[in-house]
Amino acid sequence: MSEEKPLSKEEFEQALRDLSSLVLNTSSSEYTCAHCGEETDDEERADSCRCQSWHWREAFDKFGFDDGENLFNGTDEVAGEIERLGYDVSCDFWGNHNYLITSICPKGSEENLLENTDDFQRGYTDPRKALPEFVIRHLDEVYKEES
Ligand SMILES: [Zn+2]
Repeated sequence: MSEEKPLSKEEFEQALRDLSSLVLNTSSSEYTCAHCGEETDDEERADSCRCQSWHWREAFDKFGFDDGENLFNGTDEVAGEIERLGYDVSCDFWGNHNYLITSICPKGSEENLLENTDDFQRGYTDPRKALPEFVIRHLDEVYKEES
């Protein structure tokens, strides 16, 4: 949204077409998770949506969120929480596995906390091994363990 320029008639009609195809596409998904409103054509995926029961560690796990198959994925949400604590966070897809957090750098630094070491394998090792204590505490607080 840089310049405030009125749309021409053609532009307006194109925008209207884009909008209506968007609406049509969305409503073509038959099943909806009652909790998060995510839509899918697959009834089983809608029923097994895990938006109500997941752990923040899954955002670091190659096999998290049902190996990336679940309708729900909380990775961006967890990344946002960590960014609020002063980090630059990147996420990416791991082949056909989960969409997960791949790097966490203190702002202005290139030092990735999730760098692979002898003790830490990104996507496999518990992220608590790599994260600072206050980040872990924050995430535990935001995403309280379910009993
Ligand atoms: Zn859901």
